[in-house]
Amino acid sequence: MPATFKIRPRMRTLLSPAVTKIEMAGIVSWLCVLLIEPATTLNLLNMLVTASLLVIWYVHRVVADFRIWRMLGGVYILILSLGFAHVIDTNVQLRVFTLPLAVIIVVSSAILFVTVQDYLLSTLLVWILMWPNLDVGFYRELEVYLVIFCVASMSIGFTLSFTYLRNMRSVLLVESEFRTLAETDFLTSLLNRRAFMGFFQNALAEGRSGYFIMLDIDEFKLKNDQYGHDVGDKILCAMAACLKSTPGSHSVGRIGGEEFGVLLLGEDDAVAHEYALRLLGNIRCSVLPPHQFTCSAGVAQFRATSDMSAVLKCADSNMYKAKHDGKDRVFQDGRQVKPLRPVTT
Ligand code: GH3
Ligand code: MG
Ligand code: MG
Repeated sequence: MPATFKIRPRMRTLLSPAVTKIEMAGIVSWLCVLLIEPATTLNLLNMLVTASLLVIWYVHRVVADFRIWRMLGGVYILILSLGFAHVIDTNVQLRVFTLPLAVIIVVSSAILFVTVQDYLLSTLLVWILMWPNLDVGFYRELEVYLVIFCVASMSIGFTLSFTYLRNMRSVLLVESEFRTLAETDFLTSLLNRRAFMGFFQNALAEGRSGYFIMLDIDEFKLKNDQYGHDVGDKILCAMAACLKSTPGSHSVGRIGGEEFGVLLLGEDDAVAHEYALRLLGNIRCSVLPPHQFTCSAGVAQFRATSDMSAVLKCADSNMYKAKHDGKDRVFQDGRQVKPLRPVTT
């Protein structure tokens, strides 16, 4: 997914409070205009405009879909402009305010849009709606000044919109790069311990149940000592590749030097056992001799109510039982997990 698409929801989160306030300011101004001369302004159409503005304001705050959120800014501006255009149309002495009103709407709406294209389209429509209400007789032979107001307001709004969107985008891109770096293990590109535990915590908070598997490479120190740290590093990367390529996991991470964790969701022991045995089989033949390696695994089941540290402790204790029993095996509840049928890799 391109980075700009990933940051859009964050842009929305950052913009939303200001959008809500600006839209509310527009609604308050609209209501003030209606209440100055209620006898002429309180008609069905203006009531409809008021109701629509309030509904859009509310939906704009709560809607989850980004495309709808993006569209609602434009719809709000159009309805507000239509409302004011209608009030001015029915109250000729207000025509003198058309020009400042259009300029205010165009400049203040710069913050409502997440792309400058959306902003420019909206401002164009505002001027198209407002233009017929300008008292052309009053501006006779001064029309060029109207054009200057129109172009200047759009240019100022464009510059505001372009500048803050560009700045926000670059800050969010840097933030997202740092977030990725902070969550990724440099050597293996798996989730690091903190990020993996975050996934685990979220799974518990969401009420999920499943299995946590703790894996530890067997005799890894010996490999390092015999063949060097660079070979040790390659073995760690081969281990990560096996974790990524063995299907069925919810998330995998490197939780220590040569210790890895896997989260599986579901409540079927057989599925968890089959996964763990298949993974150990893949690991066994992932690297050619003499650098081949094996791994021991401890499995612990968890439910929504489980305590994360108790689950980790349980998996750890099973993993050590697998080590003491001879390594290259899977243990759960203190017993070795045996394949139900031959494991296929
Ligand atoms: P066991 O079978 O009981 O697990 O023995 P082991 O040798 O695997 O375990 P031990 O804890 O004695 O050794 C772990 C070694 O892992 C020690 C450490 O130098 C090495 N190690 C930790 N992180 C890295 C790393 O990033 N790269 C390399 N090459 N080695 C690492
Ligand atoms: Mg270890
Ligand atoms: Mg080890």
